[in-house]
Amino acid sequence: MTVRTPSTPGSAVRTPLTLADVEVGAGLRAALAMAPSDVVDAVTGSGLKGRGGAGFPTGLKWALAAGAPAPDGRRYVVCNADEGEPGTFKDRVLLAELADLVLEGMTIAGHAIGAAEGILYLRGEYVYLREHLLTRLAARRTDGLLGADALGPGAPFDIRLHLGSGAYVCGEETALLESLEGRRGEPRNRPPFPVISGLHGAPTVVNNVETFAWVTAILARGPEWFAAIGTDRSTGPKLLSVSGDVERPGVYEFPLGVPIGEVLAAAGGLDARAVIVGGAAGRCVPATEFGRAISYEDVATGGAVIVLGPDRDLLEAAENIMSFFADESCGQCTPCRVGNVKILEGIAMLRAGTCTAEHLADLERLGATMQVASKCGLGQSSPNVFLSILEHFGDELVLTGTAPTVRTVPAATPRAV
Ligand code: SF4
Repeated sequence: MTVRTPSTPGSAVRTPLTLADVEVGAGLRAALAMAPSDVVDAVTGSGLKGRGGAGFPTGLKWALAAGAPAPDGRRYVVCNADEGEPGTFKDRVLLAELADLVLEGMTIAGHAIGAAEGILYLRGEYVYLREHLLTRLAARRTDGLLGADALGPGAPFDIRLHLGSGAYVCGEETALLESLEGRRGEPRNRPPFPVISGLHGAPTVVNNVETFAWVTAILARGPEWFAAIGTDRSTGPKLLSVSGDVERPGVYEFPLGVPIGEVLAAAGGLDARAVIVGGAAGRCVPATEFGRAISYEDVATGGAVIVLGPDRDLLEAAENIMSFFADESCGQCTPCRVGNVKILEGIAMLRAGTCTAEHLADLERLGATMQVASKCGLGQSSPNVFLSILEHFGDELVLTGTAPTVRTVPAATPRAV
């Protein structure tokens, strides 16, 4: 099985998309009739949280960027379209079919935070979308929706396209900013956060493709409409990329709070033994927990639902995922750079039947250490699938063989100061 994200053209939308019924232009018209602070309040009132996975409240992010000092008056809006999470492909569909809603959401953000420039950072493997997006940008300039007076007379806003180069870690917002500034895509230390000091040191809002599309819908239909969908803490609809052992893989829309089993029923995967919710950085949820809800307060996801059928080798899936992270780690920090390789080696031992109980306990401790000691979300989340497989299916593992020669998590040694 491969869990790498499909990067070829084409889409398979399986449920009607609310976004497809949103009138292009209505959201921006409504926003421009409001004061910038009222636009921020509307987004805050909707309860929208970032659709890229982290789930940070969008309105709060915008309020922080709008209120941060901008010494030379510059602020930036960045759309994170570096959709590289294995099992995630819903942003690709939005950019291919509903790009104007995304560009409009970025323009609304420009009005709300006082930015004149937006940048759409497109995943390198999505290069086939480049001409389409450039065409949409040119059309919006012709229509006066981008350019010198886009936000009103003398109030400019424009968007440029920036193509990534294939590094998964550039989906991390500070690595993305490094890449935009022409350096290696490596995560920055935080604080300062991008809303305070982002692109070229200016206050910068970085949001996901889907987040910007929902912003447009919220301004067009009102925050109350959005807030009435989903749960109290997880408002609105969510696009899910469903893949793996299902009859109908594709992009689905459900209200947040939907039980995992309902998604599987729609996709034809109810005989699954487990699902990985959240992609390679997500968690493995066993069939006994398919009643759990996809939401920020229960099982969160940026969009990926990878279904593992009844005959699926879970260790093979874990090995595939750890191989991905061992490849994609930027190597800046030791827990991630070394930890992914050590867990990958451990999985190979488990599959070969040469892993001892002692070594498995070391691997669990190593994974827990990576979750707290890695510098960015990649290393903090890369052991999640392996650890959750151990949690739910650990009693199926056969442990034998000889003890490893290297302990991966040595006891702390007192240091002289
Ligand atoms: Fe790089 Fe991994 Fe450390 Fe993130 S956690 S900074 S990807 S080495």
